[in-house]
Amino acid sequence: MITCNELRLKDKIDTFATFGALGNGGITRLSLSPAALAARDEFCKRCKALGMEIKRDDMANIYATLKGEEDIPAIIMGSHMDSVVQGGNYDGILGVLTALEAAETIVTEKIPHRHPITVVVWTNEEGARFDPAMMSSGVIAGKFDKELMLESKDREGITFKEALEDSGYMGEITNRLNAKDYMALVELHVEQGPVLEAEKKDIGIVEGVVGMVNYEFTITGQADHAGTTPMKYRKDALFAACNIIRYLHDELDKLDSKLVYTTGRMNVSPNIHTVIPDLVKFTLDVRHQDPTVINQAIEIIKRVPEEVDRCSVSYKELWSRKTVAFCKEFIDFVEKNANEYGYSSMRMYSGPGHDAQYIADMIPTTMIFVPSQNGHSHCEKEFTPLHNCFKGTNVLLQTILDIDRI
Ligand SMILES: [Zn+2]
Repeated sequence: MITCNELRLKDKIDTFATFGALGNGGITRLSLSPAALAARDEFCKRCKALGMEIKRDDMANIYATLKGEEDIPAIIMGSHMDSVVQGGNYDGILGVLTALEAAETIVTEKIPHRHPITVVVWTNEEGARFDPAMMSSGVIAGKFDKELMLESKDREGITFKEALEDSGYMGEITNRLNAKDYMALVELHVEQGPVLEAEKKDIGIVEGVVGMVNYEFTITGQADHAGTTPMKYRKDALFAACNIIRYLHDELDKLDSKLVYTTGRMNVSPNIHTVIPDLVKFTLDVRHQDPTVINQAIEIIKRVPEEVDRCSVSYKELWSRKTVAFCKEFIDFVEKNANEYGYSSMRMYSGPGHDAQYIADMIPTTMIFVPSQNGHSHCEKEFTPLHNCFKGTNVLLQTILDIDRI
């Protein structure tokens, strides 16, 4: 079977790791920052050298296209180049570089293809500079209002609109990905979790993105002096919050073992070591692929009493997302190709969100995961061994070629 070039892939990974490098093995490459623009320039230079035609849309998403034998809708692959602060060299960028390597293999090996083949770079996936995450794919898919997005500000007060206009990468609205000109999307991404490595699998066959709900609890007690108030009179909001979290864990653990839930944020007021806390707010993020299990989790949340440890309790849903199912035919291609290359693989759902989940509403879509060493991601330790990147690229290439024959 045809394979990509491992050394050429290494060169891509090493080169792009310099854009935003901090000297600690990772990068800070915030969306549309000078480092991100330098990476975009290098990407475009390499695409042009391969004879690809480059277009940009109004959200500065880049589409680099290899002409097909026929004038029919294109197959698209790629990911994002922006990172979080002190992020790694694999999240997002590996999806772009493996797509570029797959395209380069098609060119150098003169592999015939009917459909145009496009490599996409999405703008502002991380949301680390401009909130929200997956902004540009979301605008294209109609999930976000563009005018509101343009007003999103970074910490320096620069709006997304200003950054977009200054970037030199803003293009035409008519160049956006759409269901008429594109027929399939495949995004390769690092797993960002420990499962593939622990299960000793090379390839994650991604069936979809798990649904989630995010709730915020508010516990209201009474602030009093830590030295004078007997325990039995206290209305300690933090103590009540602890008991609620314990209850939630005990009950949620009784549901399916694939359910994951997290209290990642807690604000304690007044947060003074000599004062009994009177107000605690904490979040509960719950994720599972099956909506029935999510609903069971919501039932558990609803059973939290209005009063706990003499404190009043309320909660509200901050946001939610439905499970996204990817294209069955493409999922099967990924599995078949992993098998044919002799790579180990497993089917799984993505816990994190990705651009592909929005595009899945517009055109048939799937994703390919490769392992993250020790499960690390969104940090400088993020690492995927080269041979795993290479295997992922081969499966990506073959999957694109399979789709080309549909
Ligand atoms: Zn990513």
